[in-house]
Amino acid sequence: MSFRAIRVTKDDQGHRVETVTLEESELHEGDVTVAVDYSTVNYKDGLALADKGIVRTYPLVPGIDFAGTVESSTHASFAPGDKVVLNGYGVGERHDGGFAQKARVSGDWLVPLPEGLTTRQAAAIGTAGYTAMLSVLALEDAGLTPASGDVLVTGAAGGVGSVAVALLARLGYRVLASTGRPAEAGYLRELGAAEIIDRAELSEPGRPLGKERWAGAVDSVGSHTLVNVLAGTRYGGTVTSCGLAQGLDLPGTVMPFILRGVTLAGIDSVQAPMERRIRAYDRLARDLDLASLERMTTVVGLDEVPSVAERILAGQVRGRTVVDVN
Ligand code: NDP
Repeated sequence: MSFRAIRVTKDDQGHRVETVTLEESELHEGDVTVAVDYSTVNYKDGLALADKGIVRTYPLVPGIDFAGTVESSTHASFAPGDKVVLNGYGVGERHDGGFAQKARVSGDWLVPLPEGLTTRQAAAIGTAGYTAMLSVLALEDAGLTPASGDVLVTGAAGGVGSVAVALLARLGYRVLASTGRPAEAGYLRELGAAEIIDRAELSEPGRPLGKERWAGAVDSVGSHTLVNVLAGTRYGGTVTSCGLAQGLDLPGTVMPFILRGVTLAGIDSVQAPMERRIRAYDRLARDLDLASLERMTTVVGLDEVPSVAERILAGQVRGRTVVDVN
């Protein structure tokens, strides 16, 4: 009944990331036990493994998401054999997470695997892809349509960015992809980007208002980039903010808001209501091109997680990394 897991510990000897063998009884409490098929490496997992303020309790199995099969359940909504997906709710932060062959969680946190997706595909989407969908939903809810004009995606070659590019292109938008990796231009065009923008154009301090270049944007970068994205947004446009890959500061002015009626929409995936999660996954199952998803996915084993975690913080990971925990 024992299983393999990655565990982070912090004690007198410091912060350590180890591969260990655990018993189910050693996991945090929960009313559903899941045989994990796949977890994934997100930017936040990189922060967790690097001891950068994510992990709230030790020892902990990190991994903020997973997809798998219910093994046992006392929760009314789930029975053995059900395929499920989990994102957020503090899993991999203060509750044992996905970098293990087994997870024990509250059934209230689980989303039934949407029809049309395998657990591998759901993991390939992962928290980054589900956040990209939440961002697209926010743009749509604000009234953006392909007829509104171009849409910009920053951090385009990353996890959130890659899924956002693919989704928006499939939905008929003309997508501008901002990246710091010119070598990934071909990859981004394959996902559906119409134009590549060098991220250096956006990452330095700029003017409070610039030329109106896009009607909407999905930003996962923050800092000067987000400020410049707002400054380049057309009258009445909407920009979503979900990330801080450049920084958590927002060193700008209110000019885009008060002179151009631009809306800044915040995106949180961790505590998003279940109804919105299910809406996001239904849309992902319908609107995400599965060939594009495959193109952006790399699969690694549990032992490779620490090195991928380091590379994701250095901005060196392309697209999405799925962890085959078995
Ligand atoms: P990735 O590392 O896969 O993507 C981030 C991308 O940002 C990189 O690929 C790179 O894109 C770009 N980038 C990295 N460093 C810099 C920099 N210094 N300046 C400008 N651009 C940079 O991470 P994820 O896609 O997993 O996550 C992206 C962000 O979104 C993270 O900050 C993460 O914490 C956040 N997030 C938030 C969620 C929420 O609930 N709010 C949920 C999921 C993610 P390129 O090489 O193309 O330039």
